[in-house]
Amino acid sequence: KSPATLIEKENSNITFADVAGLDEAQIEVKEIVDFLKSPESFTKLGAKIPKGVILVGPPGTGKTLLAKAVAGEAQVPFFSISGSAFVEMFVGVGASRVRSLFQQAKEKAPCIIFIDEIDAIGRSRGKGAFLGGANDERESTLNQLLTEMDGFGTNTGVIVLAATNRADMLDPALVRTGRFDRHIYLELPNMNERASIFKVHMRCLILEEDIDTVFLAGQTPGFSGADIANICNEAALIAARRKGLKINKQDFMDAIDRVIAGVEKKSKIISPQE
Ligand code: ATP
Repeated sequence: KSPATLIEKENSNITFADVAGLDEAQIEVKEIVDFLKSPESFTKLGAKIPKGVILVGPPGTGKTLLAKAVAGEAQVPFFSISGSAFVEMFVGVGASRVRSLFQQAKEKAPCIIFIDEIDAIGRSRGKGAFLGGANDERESTLNQLLTEMDGFGTNTGVIVLAATNRADMLDPALVRTGRFDRHIYLELPNMNERASIFKVHMRCLILEEDIDTVFLAGQTPGFSGADIANICNEAALIAARRKGLKINKQDFMDAIDRVIAGVEKKSKIISPQE
């Protein structure tokens, strides 16, 4: 895999209007937008702008979406990189990638660096079944990340957002003051939040009049935002396949069944003994 695929720079056109629910998390990330947009109003009072923020939550709850929305709202570049990609790398490559990522980001400041699956590199040392070389590589990547976090000043306009499902697994060095010292928690959506996530994803769909998002929310307890986005798209595909002119309630019910089946299949692959 070419290292270039690890870093993707884009000017995100995603905004808070694309994010439903997550009210508390949104309030907290709005602060980051303010830091990026008008750092002077903080720094003139002597405040130090945080460098690193970790978004913690189950898969599909909108961590990546929220990070992109911060970039979109602040209208700054978004550098994204996945922690797990480092683990497969040759020794030394991970660290040099981290270095060049921060270098590029500093040149484009103000901007966001987003590190998905930070636990893949930032896992507490000694935890997890890493084998020799891969572990060394992970450690040198982590050390480089710590060096970069310490090396850039507090008010350079680069803010690093990172995502993980497991904050308890992270190396304490990573969450120390001055590094990733802020945590924002995202939860699976409740009934009302699911209804509003359906609404967001129905914006571009052609629907029958009787589609009721509250009813659909009631049919999808425990579903994540990603599952709901998936259901909306499946429903549209199902409707198109039956050559319907609009997406109806039955299409949604069939889509829910299909997404449930997909989730079950996935968990069987992960735990084949069951
Ligand atoms: P993972 O831990 O698996 O990387 P994640 O928390 O980063 O997941 P996202 O990648 O942000 O989740 O979510 C996937 C997609 O699900 C989003 O692009 C969006 O379409 C939808 N989605 C998730 N949460 C929400 C939400 N709160 N509002 C609207 N859409 C959502």
